[in-house]
Amino acid sequence: MTTTRITHIGGPTALIEVGGRRLLTDPTFDPPGRRYSFGWGASSRKLTGPAIAAADVGPIDAVLVSHDHHGDNLDTTGRALLPEAGLVLTTAAGARRLGGNARGLQPWATTQLEAPGRPTIQVTPCRHGPPFSRPITGDVIGFALGWEGQEHGALWITGDTVLYDGVRQVADRLQVGTALLHLGGVRFPVTGPIRYSMTAQEAVQLCRLLRPRSAIPVHYEGWTHFRQGRDAIEQEFAQAPADLGRRLQWLPIGTRISIAG
Ligand SMILES: [Zn+2]
Repeated sequence: MTTTRITHIGGPTALIEVGGRRLLTDPTFDPPGRRYSFGWGASSRKLTGPAIAAADVGPIDAVLVSHDHHGDNLDTTGRALLPEAGLVLTTAAGARRLGGNARGLQPWATTQLEAPGRPTIQVTPCRHGPPFSRPITGDVIGFALGWEGQEHGALWITGDTVLYDGVRQVADRLQVGTALLHLGGVRFPVTGPIRYSMTAQEAVQLCRLLRPRSAIPVHYEGWTHFRQGRDAIEQEFAQAPADLGRRLQWLPIGTRISIAG
């Protein structure tokens, strides 16, 4: 068994330490206060700063960027960290935009970090909105991490996505031990009831299929575009069958937590 350590830094940003490797997801380190445009009249204001400053994160072997084109997944300060990382993995379109050490991957592609203790990283599909929204919301990916001696299944980071067939396929194709769920049920005034990320109800549906050992919400707080925070998520899991409710786990933001891998 390998012990994995996860530090939720805030929003979708987490530091994952496994087998001597240090991986950073969706780097967001800007201070709160600014409003970010997501295009097509949609925008959001950042309410909470990172629990750990970019300067204190330390060396990073790989950055996993679910998408580079939204400021709540990659912001100005986070972007400045990328050249110092060993490698940046993201969408093919994102890698073209980022250049440098960014490598683009298609859904279901697999790559490995070099040298000892290397985790295997498999890309999973996302759809960041309703059917046919991809040309507007852009490509997004998730990441499933596997490593030697992993006992309970992959560590999966969903990326920003609604529940749809691509995400359900993850439950068919992979055994997932720990799921970091990008939730929040994002909506914008300009598009009314349309959701751009998973609701708590969808998270429960997904976990019914996935049956992860731990379901850990991330990216549900700290911004005005989130419509469902911790209370809504807790309520939904409390109404689910008890064996699902027990799987919900919260990472105190800024605290390094050990997860049995
Ligand atoms: Zn996004």
